[in-house]
Amino acid sequence: MNEQMRNLEPWQWPEEHWRNIVNHVRAGRSYRPQTWKDGARCAVALSFDSDHETNELRDGGKSFGRMSWGQYGNRVCVPRILKILERYGIRATFYVPAVAALIHPDEQRRIVAAGHEIGVHGWIHELNSVLPYEAERDLMLRSADTLEKITKVRPVGLRTPSWDFSPNTLAIEKEMGLVYDSSLMADEDCYEILLDGEETGIVEVPVEWVRDDAVYFMMLRFQSLRPYTPPRDVLDIFLREFDAAYEDGGLFQLTMHPHIIGYRSRIFILEEVIRHARSRPGVWFATHRDVAQYAKAHAT
Ligand SMILES: [Zn+2]
Repeated sequence: MNEQMRNLEPWQWPEEHWRNIVNHVRAGRSYRPQTWKDGARCAVALSFDSDHETNELRDGGKSFGRMSWGQYGNRVCVPRILKILERYGIRATFYVPAVAALIHPDEQRRIVAAGHEIGVHGWIHELNSVLPYEAERDLMLRSADTLEKITKVRPVGLRTPSWDFSPNTLAIEKEMGLVYDSSLMADEDCYEILLDGEETGIVEVPVEWVRDDAVYFMMLRFQSLRPYTPPRDVLDIFLREFDAAYEDGGLFQLTMHPHIIGYRSRIFILEEVIRHARSRPGVWFATHRDVAQYAKAHAT
């Protein structure tokens, strides 16, 4: 933004200025296939953001209580989730900040060995939009390198921490040759992300706050944030999202966090979603990577 624009209030901006802002990162063509793999009518992409201790570290790392909550995600919740995925033979995607992967390298190797995907989720769960371009680029490249070093698999997708997308994020994703992003919400089905109106070939696997467990269950001791939706109601929302996606012949994408969904009183939500989806014919469970690649290759 140049100096002249900085002095203007948004209601004073000339049309060209707000159009440039809106068009910088924008949904382009739909990558929606007629049918999914093997003729399936609906794709289910489950994801788990394994933030673990980085949720506290990125804010300064002062609370050992909150860091123990992150460790609970590693000790109890990820194994619990992996057991359910294994029981139903389902592959999912885990987005892991590089620092969380360095603290828990065995967890990442176990996830990959079980056939799941690991995607980039920042270095220490930093917010991209407050970083200068050079720092954001450096952290994204180092994060991908770190995950590759630990798991021996190069990540092909990025979920920005907190779904926070800077004006530079898309250009860095393009430079990294990523197949897909999963941080934006312009649709319920996959689409191509445009950069200043130009095609990038990068697939968006769109997310949504209504399909995120954290929205309903987050709690902060010293702020007024408390869980306000009973677990059964959260399940109801997720099942309605799935049913409508199934009806549409589209994509059902879900975001969960091990340290949020993994509790004894909540893990049934994951299992019920899987059982419900599995009870319908023609449902393809896949990683975000496989959904992105299939959607792009078979878009009508
Ligand atoms: Zn996260």
